[in-house]
Amino acid sequence: MSSLDSLLSVQDLDTRLDQIEHRRGHLPEDEKLTELASSLSALTEDRSGVAIQHHDLEREQKRIEDEVASLDAKATADNEKLYDGSITSPKDAGALQDEIASLRRRQTQLEDDVLELMEQAEPLGATLAKFDAKSAELDAERGRVDADRTVALAELDAERSAIRTERGSKAAEVDVELIERYEKLRSRSRGGIVIGRIEAGRCTACGLGHSSMFLDRVKAADADEIHQCEECGVMLAAVSSDS
Ligand SMILES: [Zn+2]
Repeated sequence: MSSLDSLLSVQDLDTRLDQIEHRRGHLPEDEKLTELASSLSALTEDRSGVAIQHHDLEREQKRIEDEVASLDAKATADNEKLYDGSITSPKDAGALQDEIASLRRRQTQLEDDVLELMEQAEPLGATLAKFDAKSAELDAERGRVDADRTVALAELDAERSAIRTERGSKAAEVDVELIERYEKLRSRSRGGIVIGRIEAGRCTACGLGHSSMFLDRVKAADADEIHQCEECGVMLAAVSSDS
């Protein structure tokens, strides 16, 4: 195998390495993770609006329940006082009974208010539970996609490492000056094709045919001599026998 043939193999391997880098940078899992993150963030925002309403209702309910407890304690104390013998005047006893009745009425009103607040809070609580279930679902999916991503990256890493090894041994077969020239051209062309073959009188890089004069000149030259495509400028390796 000539130096140029090995260099063509190096170029193929470099192209595959570039493809692997591209795939590493454009993993479908990364795209999916970005989508999931944005869904989760939208969900969190929607949930927080409902959570604030729900919290306000609960706080109001708690405030009223505290008031009910305090009215109840007062009414109970008044009721005890009514029967502990400390009140002797029937007028005072009547006034105290009126007060107890008034406290109990107020207590009943507030208890109705509490029920109403609970009714308002219930659908909001259900909505929050739905948000939480959806959020857990998205979180689980994120975990699965993340695991898939790890596997995909490990596979690409293994492939890359095998190709690098192969590239190393192919590059060792190529003349040092030639590989330097190749690497310079390749970095200038940003990873493009810099070396081709002449096959059936055509350049494999650009597909264009060469003049018979050019082909004759190539034929007359040493097998290892480097030519340049007249059309696209790539370095040209071996001429196949039928050209
Ligand atoms: Zn060409």
